[in-house]
Amino acid sequence: MDFYSLNKIAPKVSFKDAVIKGLAPDKGLYFPNKIKRLEKEFFKHLNYFSNEEIAYEVIKQFVADEIPERELKEIIKETLSFDFPIVTINENISTLELFHGPTMAFKDVGARFMARCLGYFNKQENTTKVTVLVATSGDTGGAVASGFLDVKGVDVVILYPSGKVSEVQEKQLTTLGKNITALEVDGTFDDCQAMVKKAFLDTDLISIKNLTSANSINVARWLPQMFYFFFAYKQLKNKNRDVVFSIPSGNFGNICAGMMAQQLGLPVKQFIASTNVNDIVPNYLKTGIYNPKPSKQTISNAMDVGDPSNFVRILEIYKNDISKLKKHLSSYSFTDDETREAMKYLKENYNYIADPHGAVGYLGLKTYLTKNNAQGIFLETAHPVKFLDVVEPVIKETIELPAQIKEVIDKEKVSIKISNYEELKEFLLIS
Ligand SMILES: *Cc1c(COP(=O)(O)O)cnc(C)c1O
Repeated sequence: MDFYSLNKIAPKVSFKDAVIKGLAPDKGLYFPNKIKRLEKEFFKHLNYFSNEEIAYEVIKQFVADEIPERELKEIIKETLSFDFPIVTINENISTLELFHGPTMAFKDVGARFMARCLGYFNKQENTTKVTVLVATSGDTGGAVASGFLDVKGVDVVILYPSGKVSEVQEKQLTTLGKNITALEVDGTFDDCQAMVKKAFLDTDLISIKNLTSANSINVARWLPQMFYFFFAYKQLKNKNRDVVFSIPSGNFGNICAGMMAQQLGLPVKQFIASTNVNDIVPNYLKTGIYNPKPSKQTISNAMDVGDPSNFVRILEIYKNDISKLKKHLSSYSFTDDETREAMKYLKENYNYIADPHGAVGYLGLKTYLTKNNAQGIFLETAHPVKFLDVVEPVIKETIELPAQIKEVIDKEKVSIKISNYEELKEFLLIS
């Protein structure tokens, strides 16, 4: 399958090149040249397929023959080695838990799939080593570190803001070693991101290093997120009732993958983009004006994004027709106080412990369902244990550490401290 750049200047590339490059040379995001709907029969018989079989059907048109069937099936099998359960909250609301992977956030699936695709392409030709350079405010770093650990031909360099990620998150990035290096930046997340962007444009570096990114702009991280929506649909007992999904959104990669699943034919009535006070998209749907702003810090920090990079992909699906888009997308924004209230409400009424991101998803769904009749699913994108300092005071209970967290929490942190771009560059040039 060919992918074109949304800035429409750079030439089309194969899946392989889109994965290796990340972003097109004209700085546009890559988008599939064609989207083919899946057979009606497939949806009818979804219940009979395993998750791995579903994932293969869903992704194969995008990978085409660039990864042979056997290898692609193996990549999918390794990527999906955990559960994606639906938990019922009440008769209209359930949650799809996406946090049962190794780092307990939904980003595990995309990171694991992308890592294995890159590993496969590297094995094919003895191309030069690829260096994955990524800035994280918390969750991305851990998922990428775990997903890429031991992948041959790939080095991973993660920049994170010193003192600004949770203890669990820091341990997940700094204790793996091997091909993973954590750079602890004396600065904010925005500083980390600015350094990464500068590195991608630095001709001294890119003339000798194969740099790529591992955030959701990369098609191999973005597209496998389509799987979740099929797994959810498969688990629904009543497939005759309208289905809506509420997705806690920051960079809008996850929700855009859901909307791609709908393009493949998945019968979803509406998507709800639930955001914190970083309300660029809810405002856009209200006013028709897309007005990016500097991000504001919230308790759902993985969604503190002031210019969601994947939203252009959603606009591309709808060919920039906002009235058509609104038929499939609603969007609401919530404050931290409302989010804490929702966490408390879910615990007291349904004995369900949501993390702050899932709670925002719940609120968006609840708002939509006050005016519409449907069965709603909100995505729980991280385990509450990743945000202990926020969750425990609200629910007034201690949360037991799951095995994945116990495993890293006592390991020794290893990081390299840097404070400016020159130090990053020096590190990349000698490593
Ligand atoms: C990354 C993240 C999100 C936002 O996902 P996008 O694809 O960027 O919209 C939501 N919740 C959690 C826990 C995350 O880590």
